[in-house]
Amino acid sequence: MEQPRINRRQALGLLGAAGAVTAMTGLGVPMAARAGGAGHVVVVGGGFGGATAAKFLKRFNPAVEVTLVEASEHFYTCPFSNWYLGGIKEMAYIRHGYDELREHYGVHVVHATAEDVDGDRHEVRLSTGERLRYDKLVLSPGIDFDWDGLAGYDEAAAEKAPHAWKAGEQSRLLRRQLEAMEDGGLFILRAPENPFRCPPGPYERVSLIAHYFKQHKPRSKILLLDAKDNFSKQPLFLDGWAEFYGDMIEWVGASQDGRVVAVDADRREVETEFGTRHRADVLNVVPPQKAGFIARRAGVTDASGWVPVKPQTFESTQIEDIYVVGDATIAAPMPKSGFCANAQAKVVASAIVSEFAGHAPPPAVWNNTCYSLIAPGYGISVAGVYKVIDGHIAEVPGSGGVSPREADEAFRAREAEYAVNWYEAISEDTWGTRFRG
Ligand SMILES: Cc1cc2nc3c(=O)[nH]c(=O)nc-3n(C[C@H](O)[C@H](O)[C@H](O)COP(=O)(O)OP(=O)(O)OC[C@H]3O[C@@H](n4cnc5c(N)ncnc54)[C@H](O)[C@@H]3O)c2cc1C
Repeated sequence: MEQPRINRRQALGLLGAAGAVTAMTGLGVPMAARAGGAGHVVVVGGGFGGATAAKFLKRFNPAVEVTLVEASEHFYTCPFSNWYLGGIKEMAYIRHGYDELREHYGVHVVHATAEDVDGDRHEVRLSTGERLRYDKLVLSPGIDFDWDGLAGYDEAAAEKAPHAWKAGEQSRLLRRQLEAMEDGGLFILRAPENPFRCPPGPYERVSLIAHYFKQHKPRSKILLLDAKDNFSKQPLFLDGWAEFYGDMIEWVGASQDGRVVAVDADRREVETEFGTRHRADVLNVVPPQKAGFIARRAGVTDASGWVPVKPQTFESTQIEDIYVVGDATIAAPMPKSGFCANAQAKVVASAIVSEFAGHAPPPAVWNNTCYSLIAPGYGISVAGVYKVIDGHIAEVPGSGGVSPREADEAFRAREAEYAVNWYEAISEDTWGTRFRG
């Protein structure tokens, strides 16, 4: 279904509204909370959702004790990892640390894996053997791959045919393979079934790899085999591909036999639903996904592999005092995006601080904008504002939409610039990363 379009004025209004939401939560809650009680919150996962939750719990009430458990010392964002693959940004740009949370906000940061959760005892067991007691637990573990969901594709296969759907080593591996590929080679990307992390991600990825090929290996081709028949911002992507890359990118939807059902990573070969085999020079497989394993260990996932939450607070529907944010949750129509994880985390932080203080949480509002770059200086976006309507998360009617299809060059250039501004602003908001000065 075609989504309502927004013009620049409406988009700016939306950004203004988004600012108001943050300010409202930021100003309203701490005043109430500072007068009230505090407790110990353990946050698992230092990505978009977890780092934001840890920081805003301390911002809303510095008396709350917050321990952030994160497996890695640095976080590489998936946002802008496609820009890295396209040769537009370097890895250092998407790397973030935890010093700011530790030093300026007083978050205890523990680098370890949370291996188990005992919801009755309110305890998290770490890979170090330590047990952390919590009053409230926030889980933002992101995704795990469903290694049983696609024949032939497991962790070993991902070392040959990378997913690069968690940024870092996998992104480096894919870039090395692209660099080593001969001009005239075939790059195949397998796009997954819904739901998955970052609905526009596969389409931005092929755009920026096409940009790289156009500059360095112009005879190469890209085959995008899709498990779906429709995708995010589809008409805008198709227009952009035709304009910048001619026939370099071929997209094949599920009903045209695009659904990959088996992978042979040694041969860099895939097999589709109707039995067609395609052999790639570089093969990028984005497999089926589910919530990060700690959510299952905590007992908060359902049969879908994702986490049902109470819409107003993102507390688990299954286990009290455990809140879940980000990609791991069932929060449709909100997409699985870093922007949403950040917005959800602020709502959770305000709900927890309010509860410690004995107040009802303020009404939840979330916003999202996902920018995609089709070529340098040519950006597009999809935006939405969400709230709880009749007990369910719903998009506020008329709140968002996609970039207009008929926009001029200057409009696309501005959206490309907004993408960078967004990335730098959310990185500062989440980890305190500063890009200038
Ligand atoms: C190619 C691509 C492009 C994208 N572009 C955008 C974009 O432009 N805009 C946007 O908004 N979103 C984008 N996204 C989506 C975004 O990356 C995710 O939605 C976001 O990272 C979700 O945040 P999260 O907190 O749920 O998980 P993550 O950010 O993945 O964080 C999870 C963290 O938890 C840690 N962890 C997990 N389990 C444990 C454990 N048991 N113990 C300790 N630590 C643990 C992990 O190490 C990780 O650091 C993109 C995604 C991809 C793949």
